Amino acid sequence: MITIDGSLGEGGGQVLRTALSLALCTGQPFVIERIRAGRPKPGLARQHLTCVEAATAVGGARVEGAELGSQRLAFKPGAVRYGDYKFAIGTAGSTTLVLQTVLPALLLADGPSTLTLSGGTHNPLAPPFEFLQLAFAPALRAMGASLDLQLVRHGFAPAGGGCITATVGPSKLQPIHLHERMPTGLPRARAVLAGLSPSIGERELTLVRRRLDLHAEQLRVEPVASHGPGNMLLIEFPGSPCSEVVGVPGERNVSAEQVAERACAAASRFLAANVPIGEHLADQLLLPLALAGGGSFRTVEPSLHTKTNAQVIERFLPVRFDFTAEGTASLVRVVPRQPL
Ligand code: AMP
Repeated sequence: MITIDGSLGEGGGQVLRTALSLALCTGQPFVIERIRAGRPKPGLARQHLTCVEAATAVGGARVEGAELGSQRLAFKPGAVRYGDYKFAIGTAGSTTLVLQTVLPALLLADGPSTLTLSGGTHNPLAPPFEFLQLAFAPALRAMGASLDLQLVRHGFAPAGGGCITATVGPSKLQPIHLHERMPTGLPRARAVLAGLSPSIGERELTLVRRRLDLHAEQLRVEPVASHGPGNMLLIEFPGSPCSEVVGVPGERNVSAEQVAERACAAASRFLAANVPIGEHLADQLLLPLALAGGGSFRTVEPSLHTKTNAQVIERFLPVRFDFTAEGTASLVRVVPRQPL
């Protein structure tokens, strides 16, 4: 039985989600204690509970402790079943994080699946839909994944009500090596807005334009329909095989200019390192690469999410992660090791 300390490193929801994903993929049961101990409100929130429920349904699992606020969970997977699934978070919790939890097991399953997930699609502290569409999914497809994503309706906190769908085919994941940045077009910035004045987006883009030296054709205000108001600023760096997408949510009491400054700072860190893989894609690629049994990429300095995720993955799979600093960049390698 694998025992995971949920307070490890970052001490967030990813420790739990990675354990769920890999329990499904490997058939190994686990117990996690001190779930999300590093967060202001520890324990299972709605989004994490939906991840547990989704993993339980996909993996025919037996589970103890699946309650809101629970800080301990025991999870014993059965057989993974492909098919058509619908999961509703019930709040504005992140649909993209629920998708990432069950996706690896469905990719490795024998038949096709569809997923319909409702909740938030553009959340703080989670991948916005466009990040999955332009960065995460293309990187997985380059590894051999059959994966198609659609945004049905935008959902912002606190109203939620968004919806995404995924079509997943049986896939054999292969290692990839992504060392050089390969731009395929000029950067683009868009300010997604629901129920808010377009002037907010215009102010965000004015600052992005100045800081990153963009032209008007590279900027777009994108008004969208949603159950409640929301804003997310997205800066995309098109690349092969995957793009980088910097996403920063608008917040109450934070000016449009401050939102834009945050996005530009993240974009500048990515550009300065001259790497193909940004901070967030780095932590999210570790698991599929570990399932593929190898691979490597150059990225920015690894985040605590990345270091923590590596430690959790090493508990389930016969790999280890090797991090080599190269100035402001870092080389990450997935190295197979003999099963214990
Ligand atoms: P946790 O905080 O442990 O629940 O994990 C959050 C996950 O969301 C990590 O994989 C982060 O890399 C990812 N994430 C957070 N913010 C962003 C963002 N702006 N773009 C892409 N991924 C993000």
